[in-house]
Amino acid sequence: MGISVDFFMETPVVEALVLRIVDVLKTKVSEFKYNQWLRPARFSIDGDSLRIDVPNKFIRDWILDHYLPLIRYEMFSLSQREFKIAISVSENAADTQGAARDSSAAFSAKAEVNALVQGLTCTPAPDASGARAVVVSNAYPQGAAKDGRLPVSASVRRTTGLNGKYTFESFVVGSGSQFCHAAALAVAEHPGRTYNPLLIYGGVGLGKTHLLNAIGLRILATSPQLRVLSITGEQFTNELINAIRYETTYEFRKKYREGCDVLLIDDVQFIAGKERTQEEFFHTFNTLYESRRQIVLTSDRSPKDMAQLEERLRSRFNWGLIADIQTPDTETRIAILRRRAESIGVFLPDDVAQLMAEKIRTNIRDLEGAFTRLSAFAHLYKCALSTDLVRKILQDIVDEQSTLLSFDRIQALVAAHFKVAVGDLKSAKRYRTIAEPRQIAMYLCKKYLKASFPEIGHHFGGKDHSTVIHAVRKIEKGIGENPAMHESILQLEKSLSA
Ligand code: ADP
Ligand code: MG
Repeated sequence: MGISVDFFMETPVVEALVLRIVDVLKTKVSEFKYNQWLRPARFSIDGDSLRIDVPNKFIRDWILDHYLPLIRYEMFSLSQREFKIAISVSENAADTQGAARDSSAAFSAKAEVNALVQGLTCTPAPDASGARAVVVSNAYPQGAAKDGRLPVSASVRRTTGLNGKYTFESFVVGSGSQFCHAAALAVAEHPGRTYNPLLIYGGVGLGKTHLLNAIGLRILATSPQLRVLSITGEQFTNELINAIRYETTYEFRKKYREGCDVLLIDDVQFIAGKERTQEEFFHTFNTLYESRRQIVLTSDRSPKDMAQLEERLRSRFNWGLIADIQTPDTETRIAILRRRAESIGVFLPDDVAQLMAEKIRTNIRDLEGAFTRLSAFAHLYKCALSTDLVRKILQDIVDEQSTLLSFDRIQALVAAHFKVAVGDLKSAKRYRTIAEPRQIAMYLCKKYLKASFPEIGHHFGGKDHSTVIHAVRKIEKGIGENPAMHESILQLEKSLSA
């Protein structure tokens, strides 16, 4: 029956899925064909089936013949779940959609918040008549699904800004994120009492938003009396602009200074350089801080690199803890892929995980995107995940990645620049003419691939991590002291970014 599929698909999610599949189909099919064949169809989800009601047999057959694989593929891409597709002729096809909407109104947000707070799971399940009803079950007392999601509904999302997908349970801790994770957990367990503010910074797609959300969800579950507010720096700015425009700054201040106990601001770098926003944020910060209410911020760069950040804010950010999140190493990337595969019930062979993790090193968002493409393709063509499939499907990404940045590319460039062989860079030879290029290559790998020291050592013929640390330090020092070396590195960096 459909319960397992439905486990964390609340009615709003089901509804959103229906809307999204319709939207996606609109973009994949020409307007003319869409109007002719798909517009008359009514999509709805019934347990583990996508129901398509069409007004006549002709349209049914046309969709069956022409659009079934597309619909199946897109449904899987959107939901990562297997839906049966049931297409039938129904005279009042138009009513089906209406009925789906009505029943979603029955979904009680309040019941769900309570359930969430008590660690219960709220699932919309089909009743005997096939219509949806809300059931609250305590079958999963931790409140998290097997992939770590919390069933957070639209209403919780609206009042707190939190996304149920990003929990501590679904976060894979690796070398680059260990520190941030520990700090985030400490803050979530003792809000306002450990690090205040906590600022997490790092490159895109590395899990900053995920950790910020996880803090909010954990506090919501363990301290339901605390009011959690999560917004982005951009939303904060826009709300302020509107407040000024509509003369509602009093309400704005009340909301942020009195109406919340935990303030989570994602991408706070956005407010840098915006005078009035920084001013407002400064006072909000002080009010919250003085009453020991928790503030957590994320940013794509460290406060010292936020050129337009007001000094008084920069100094306040330093009152708490600043933690940087780094690119995960290959082992962590593999662990993330495994977790992802497990959560959607797909078998992921070791060599496939290894290849993907080696090829996609930019960030976790790219890695997840690639995995979604791969699994959707395997599902559609009913084939197993294999390295051949990875190569075939991800050719674009892999090409892009390997020409962009990789150990091979950095080593090849450095070797060509210094007229040595790549093999020499990986050898144990200690002549200066080889040792120095090797050290420069190691330095560039650290800087651009954000690889761990042991990982770099591995790619240079199995050198010890202390050798790599020594090399990186030596070159960092050399850049300041040796103009010729500095010039070589600048040239290499230019070629790397070409
Ligand atoms: P950022 O805010 O740093 O740009 P996100 O938090 O949006 O990055 O993360 C991008 C994607 O990668 C999200 O889907 C997130 O769930 C996933 N992700 C990032 N880090 C991890 C991790 N350590 N474990 C599991 N998933 C992760
Ligand atoms: Mg983010």
